[in-house]
Amino acid sequence: MYYRSRAIVLKSINYRDTDKLVSLFTEEKGKVRSIARGVQKPKSSLRACTQPFCHSMLHLSSGRELDIITQGKLIDFYGNSREDVVLSLHSLYIMELIDKALLDKMPMPELYSCALSVLEYLDKKGFNPLVLRYFELQLLAGLGYGPLLDACCGCGRKDVKKPVFNLAQGGIFCESCLDVSLHNVYLNGESLAVLRLLACGGLAALNRLKVSPAALKQIEHILELDLEYHLERKFNMKKTIQLINKSQ
Ligand SMILES: [Zn+2]
Repeated sequence: MYYRSRAIVLKSINYRDTDKLVSLFTEEKGKVRSIARGVQKPKSSLRACTQPFCHSMLHLSSGRELDIITQGKLIDFYGNSREDVVLSLHSLYIMELIDKALLDKMPMPELYSCALSVLEYLDKKGFNPLVLRYFELQLLAGLGYGPLLDACCGCGRKDVKKPVFNLAQGGIFCESCLDVSLHNVYLNGESLAVLRLLACGGLAALNRLKVSPAALKQIEHILELDLEYHLERKFNMKKTIQLINKSQ
């Protein structure tokens, strides 16, 4: 069966002499594993539209294990991000998250537009760590693991003093409801407020947001733990980014 869909290229690896295995996040069918034949030949028309983190319109033919990319047209290459190491690494991190988190052929149109808006934000406005955290939260929510941040999951009180996030329960607890477990992460008030805003606000709200370095670090840490806990995966690109940051 032939179909056509807009798609974000998650991963593209050389295969056999001239082919590539391409992991796609398609608008129509969600994550699709595909093959682009002859794409390593210099004149292949599929070269540009199968690069990691580009946005393309693709024609595909369904196969037993892999769908075959028959034609393609580039929609956006995100040229600014591609020329900048920090932006490239973070765009690739978004691709790795999607590739490792999604099951094959489960359409997720909301997450698809969210991923596009994040790629576009990085390309047009430059690096902002909150954009990455926003995507991580939207991904968790899309998979049904969105953290419960509005009130204490035990007693329901909203003004939680000294909130503690429990990974296993997927939400915050106050001191009196706290279940002492290995999966607790302490949060400060600022981090909780920012997490709440990222969970319900859009990208537009992020430009005006001023967040202390301590809260940024705490939010990054908690989302990293939460993603690893639910997806049971490690994210190589995240580790690469952290190593580069440490060496600077
Ligand atoms: Zn409570």
